[in-house]
Amino acid sequence: MSEGTGTAWSRQDVILKANNLKKYYPIRRGVARRIVGQVKAVDGVSFELRKGETLGVVGESGCGKSTLGRLLVQLEAPTEGTVEMEGRIVKPGEEMRRLRRDVQIVFQDPYTSLNPRMTVGDIVAEPLLIHKNELNLKGRERDRVKQLLDQVGLNPEHINRYPHQFSGGQRQRIGIARGIALNPKVLVCDEPVSALDVSVQAQVVNLLERLQRELGLAYVFIAHDLAVVRHISHRVAVMYLGEIVEVGDKNQIYNHPMHPYTQALMSAAPVPDPVLQAKRQRIMLSGDVPSPANPPSGCRFHTRCWKAQPNCVTDPPPLIMRGEGPAAHPASCHYAEEMEVVTG
Ligand code: SF4
Repeated sequence: MSEGTGTAWSRQDVILKANNLKKYYPIRRGVARRIVGQVKAVDGVSFELRKGETLGVVGESGCGKSTLGRLLVQLEAPTEGTVEMEGRIVKPGEEMRRLRRDVQIVFQDPYTSLNPRMTVGDIVAEPLLIHKNELNLKGRERDRVKQLLDQVGLNPEHINRYPHQFSGGQRQRIGIARGIALNPKVLVCDEPVSALDVSVQAQVVNLLERLQRELGLAYVFIAHDLAVVRHISHRVAVMYLGEIVEVGDKNQIYNHPMHPYTQALMSAAPVPDPVLQAKRQRIMLSGDVPSPANPPSGCRFHTRCWKAQPNCVTDPPPLIMRGEGPAAHPASCHYAEEMEVVTG
């Protein structure tokens, strides 16, 4: 897939690559647990992530974005497709171990993703100890954990406290400290601020931006909050029913979306200016997201698309370059055309 992004990155900068990633979950029925179908959570996703870049991944819940995140860090094995790290396809063995060190994940809910019976020191040190095959925190790792706590804005003296003694924002900082403990190159952030108050969200987003500058990290930032994604991302991929339907730099996606689904999403994003908010037209989508166990034929969006034509029901549209000039970027729609959307 080629991507016209208008950014300063070159192909040599690609650090992580997804090649036609698929994840199908079997649906089993009856006493014999016979396989009667498949949930196509991720269905042929390809993209490139460059050094120091943030790729936002947006879409309604159930679109497969969290599953994609888990595939990237190998928490789940893909049904098909590969992940490439710095030009090498990740296979079981040394490559897999390297990826597990170089690509880390921060989860959505800081209330449930931290073990309540472990001290903060043990939580942050866990990846260090697993990596070194050690059981207990020794002097050097203890110093490293204190340094990590300081780096994410927590008091290093609180190393022996438990998660319940911290606020939601502080707990997410603990999750981020654990995520960067092994000096990864890529951090997959799966809805990292969704469970937090708005004021705390901004602090955590600022922290992620600072760490990106200091450590040269690349992020895959998965979220449904369009304003947060717009703030932090360099490029944005829009997912619908397990597929990327549009990808480009953030101004292309937010100000010049080509795919009707992206246009509907962007038209619903809140605008801070009340005058603009009153003037803009919102595109209302009819119906719910279809089941990924039985996705529509042809273009998966045709059951909700106001522009659908007969060929949309039969022919899947390829994700190819659409539009002209600086607004050109890949979108998978037979009738893709630029729409100016007021997004603030
Ligand atoms: Fe709508 Fe057809 Fe484009 Fe799909 S291919 S988004 S149904 S116009």
